[in-house]
Amino acid sequence: MPNSLVAPDATNPFAGSLDDLGRGTVALVGVGVDANSSYLRGSAAAPAAVREQLHCGSANYCSESGADLTDVIVDLGDVAVSNTAASVADADMITQVLRSVVATGAAPLTIGGDHSVTYPVLRALGPAHNDLHIVHIDAHPDLYDSFEDNRFSHASPFARIMEDQLCSNLTQIGIRTATPHQREQAARFAITTVTASEFSQFDLGQVCGPVYVSIDLDGLDPAFAPGVSHHEPGGLTVRQVIDLLSALATKDDATIVGADVVELNPGRDLGGMTAMVAAKLTRELAAALAT
Ligand code: MN
Ligand code: MN
Repeated sequence: MPNSLVAPDATNPFAGSLDDLGRGTVALVGVGVDANSSYLRGSAAAPAAVREQLHCGSANYCSESGADLTDVIVDLGDVAVSNTAASVADADMITQVLRSVVATGAAPLTIGGDHSVTYPVLRALGPAHNDLHIVHIDAHPDLYDSFEDNRFSHASPFARIMEDQLCSNLTQIGIRTATPHQREQAARFAITTVTASEFSQFDLGQVCGPVYVSIDLDGLDPAFAPGVSHHEPGGLTVRQVIDLLSALATKDDATIVGADVVELNPGRDLGGMTAMVAAKLTRELAAALAT
């Protein structure tokens, strides 16, 4: 197990190990996989870029609700992946690390990498919860049966998750690129789709029980998050996503039990502004997970 993780820099104030985890803590885990990206690579550098902004002197460690996350977040470092396309070994390593986290009672918060990391994460999380509901924010449904002959593609994780029945419900929010094939897949798996244009009418009514939140930063409008591989105009604002997380965190019949922030591509970023969005969402998610 120690060989499965590359420990964070000792100067990282959140640095810790599995021994530091337990109920009420949030385990931060970086996964630098971008080999399953279909268009541009670069998201492997995201965990380091998010940590840089998380610990940037311009901000602090409190969520908007006032929760101080200093003693809540335990940064385990990065999963020791080979970052090879369609790697079964990498996927198994991610699942193994996340299973170890879940076994401690801590809530996992994964920083991608591309969106392919969510499937191996859910292989650990899904079986640990009854009736898991996934809330997935993205421009893309990521439901391709296979993309460029890669069933582990970042365009396919939610097809794998639904096939393996790793959740009971999947609600996809901010979608604005669904192809006929992906619409068929959404119908086949009984997925709830909330397009970007439908978002203002959406309410969280049916989202309840244990909830996993997966945030692909390209679900945001590229005006707010330009540091992603796929610029898809017409997306959500940062404010809308934070308010959605807040509404989920305070909903009486829902509990956020795990989350990821994926698809930051620091090579496309402008002055670290998207990395700062990712760091802000990391703080808000950590506060929601610790509630
Ligand atoms: Mn995605
Ligand atoms: Mn996307």
